[in-house]
Amino acid sequence: MSTSSIERTTETELAPAVAEFLAASVHKSFVGGRWVDAADGQTFDVVNPGSGDKLATVTSLKKADVDKAVDAAVDAFHNSGWAKMQVSERAACLHRIADAVEARRDEFATIEALDCGKIYTQAVGDVQNFIDTFRYFADLSQAVNYRQVIAVKNHEAWVSRHPWGACGFIIPWNFPLLLAGWGLAPALAAGNTCVLKPAEDTPLSALYLCKMIQELELLPAGVLNVVTGLGETAGAALSQNSKLRRMSFTGSPEVGRLVAEAAGRNLIPVKCELGGKGAAVVFNDVDIQETAEKLVQAITFHSGQVCCDATRWLIHRDIYDAFVDECITRMKSVQIGYQMDRDAQMGPLVSAKQRARVLGYLQKGVAGGADLILEGGEAQIPGRKGFYVKPALLAGSLNNVAAREEIFGPVAFLAPFSDEEEGLRLANDTEYGLGNSVWSRDLQRCARIAEAFTSGNGWINAHNVIVHGVPYGGVGKSGMGGGVISPDTLNDYLRPISVVRPL
Ligand code: NAD
Repeated sequence: MSTSSIERTTETELAPAVAEFLAASVHKSFVGGRWVDAADGQTFDVVNPGSGDKLATVTSLKKADVDKAVDAAVDAFHNSGWAKMQVSERAACLHRIADAVEARRDEFATIEALDCGKIYTQAVGDVQNFIDTFRYFADLSQAVNYRQVIAVKNHEAWVSRHPWGACGFIIPWNFPLLLAGWGLAPALAAGNTCVLKPAEDTPLSALYLCKMIQELELLPAGVLNVVTGLGETAGAALSQNSKLRRMSFTGSPEVGRLVAEAAGRNLIPVKCELGGKGAAVVFNDVDIQETAEKLVQAITFHSGQVCCDATRWLIHRDIYDAFVDECITRMKSVQIGYQMDRDAQMGPLVSAKQRARVLGYLQKGVAGGADLILEGGEAQIPGRKGFYVKPALLAGSLNNVAAREEIFGPVAFLAPFSDEEEGLRLANDTEYGLGNSVWSRDLQRCARIAEAFTSGNGWINAHNVIVHGVPYGGVGKSGMGGGVISPDTLNDYLRPISVVRPL
């Protein structure tokens, strides 16, 4: 569906279902098919990043509460019939969930946009991605060979595949519903049960999903549980629970290490999708205007809060000055505004903390010798107290802190290069390894360089290209454990057992 046909709403025009959902005095967690409070009654507030106003109050679960959610998932795995259901019946359940979200696309998009400050049409794209992910894994699950005979000499042998059990998911705030889909869909399609902990800044779309699933009876009770709470309490509790059979974390490398350590101590396989510091390597034969436009769009999309963004723009020396001028002009014209406003192209950052982080990196970058070639800084939106910043460009030595560390905002760092060897070397000179891109009319050169990137993804004449069926994951500080949205992902949620009989 084209996003241009979608009407944006304003807060005063909320759909009745969304208004009713947001009006709840406390948004409870969803455990074992029921809505639960924290045993200690504690809550925390969620803020609309575009207005700075409180959006909702959410229950703040602690370890004992989270452990109960895992118990509910374990119980549902053994007793709800989900794990033993025919594959096609389970796939039908996933399609029903996709259908129901599709019918409520605008409701989900509004909740997502208000909760994480995402431009409304971009939130619609995230909801569509969630739908596509559920449909993709529903269909894929029916094509798996669950009893794969292996032809070997003097033995009868086969591999039989089964769901693992209860699986844990911890996700960040930048793509809450989309990332919930990437985690939950393959696990559910394979017959596992799930406990999801959304980020404390953005728990609402996951709770709205549970509300829909409960009202329409789309899953047996306990198959999907959503626990809200702070990272260091609820998140840590989930990562430490030894009754889980698989753990999946998406977020920063710092927290990823903690989660991987905790799950590793219980010998639970863990998948980590972490941060990035992607490079775009731009050669001197590109259309300068078109390439600048695409890179500016990428770094301002969701205010640069995208893990696989190109944040280091390596530009061939021949076109460096012209390219920089083009980028500055385009970045200055980006319309910053409230996420529900029709004309806004870039919304706020997710929180005051994130804004302080982005502005802090600009200061540290300049203090370390970088040139601030487009100033950035706080942006004021009349009538809104949200967390807005202007796009910024830095240039200089790639050893600068702002060129080496993930900023997670609308900030790119520019540097020139002279030849293919240098461009590739600079792109790979990072601890991260998520997504890099190469830009040139010479497609053989592009293929050569894309394959030589030390990253999970190498894109040609585009950036942030994510397609169901093509593995997406990171290496180094950007992740481990197999990646997402491909047939391999579904396989990760199936426990193999080799059965052998000597003949
Ligand atoms: P974060 O690591 O601070 O938090 C992620 C999640 O972990 C949240 O749910 C949080 O509550 C939880 N958490 C925090 N402390 C915890 C602890 N001690 N134990 C267990 N859980 C804990 O990350 P963030 O700021 O929410 O998100 C931004 C980061 O996510 C960036 O680094 C970004 O690149 C990365 N990211 C990666 C991908 C990917 O696919 N590779 C996708 C989106 C975001």
